[in-house]
Amino acid sequence: MKTRLLVKEGEYRLAKAFCMDAKIDAEELYCFLTGMDKVALFLRANEEVDPETEEKYMELIARRAERIPLQHITGTQEFMGNTFKVSPDVLIPRQDTETLVEEAARTIQKNPKEKVSFIQKLKGVAEWDVLDLCCGSGAIGISLAKICSDIKVTASDISSAAIAVASENASKLRAKVKFVEGDMFEPHAGKKFDMIVSNPPYIRTAMISILQEEVKEHEPLGALDGGRDGLDFYRVIVDKAADHLNPGGFLMLEIGHDQGEDLRKMLKDDGRYTPAEVIKDLPGKDRVVKCRLKKESDL
Ligand code: GLN
Repeated sequence: MKTRLLVKEGEYRLAKAFCMDAKIDAEELYCFLTGMDKVALFLRANEEVDPETEEKYMELIARRAERIPLQHITGTQEFMGNTFKVSPDVLIPRQDTETLVEEAARTIQKNPKEKVSFIQKLKGVAEWDVLDLCCGSGAIGISLAKICSDIKVTASDISSAAIAVASENASKLRAKVKFVEGDMFEPHAGKKFDMIVSNPPYIRTAMISILQEEVKEHEPLGALDGGRDGLDFYRVIVDKAADHLNPGGFLMLEIGHDQGEDLRKMLKDDGRYTPAEVIKDLPGKDRVVKCRLKKESDL
């Protein structure tokens, strides 16, 4: 069979199984199997496929048609221009989360701290001490470590399996990140940071059952379920982050598109933070909340 027809057949089977992006996934799986890129696939569309490749391709299509996420079949997801390993132990990094990383990186670059001398740098004194809380695959912390120079990134997660995936990602991508296992702030007792970033679980429990099958059946629920109103983790973060930020330190959280007002209010009621800014993602939805721990001059 010709490549073009085989991939078309793959697309048809995925569409019939109600996979959202049938065409894209059918092409991705062919590229994954053959090592071709999309351009080669286009240029070689009229070439004959050998029967062995054809059979292997249809096996991949059959797995995807069972609604196994594409990324669990290929084992990877692109995020901020890097390829991250993923597994069922970690949330697959979403494009939405790039908004948080871009905003955090901009904030670090726009607010240089007092100059750190070359000797201090050699001794490991970084300009920014950043914590990625609930790090999952490590996508946020690792991306920041790669984009920003002079930062020291610590990342933590309650799941040891997630920490294993994240550590592997950091070493593959040559990013210097310190990983610690533990529940929320528990492994950071007595530590203070200049910035805390987090994409905690924020889906309302009742909404889990209406998520796509790929998500609810294959991704870790512990990384998605934010409790009855979706805000359980934010309550802990808002309560505890103030004890783990230096004065003026930044708190930057990914939020669900309808949680901006809740977070703004929660931070205002707490009283220890500056008024929160709600930042939109590319499709124009509220996606990130950003504020600072008040410093003496703010009080
Ligand atoms: N944005 C993710 C989703 O829609 C949820 C991420 C989270 O709960 N932190 O599946």
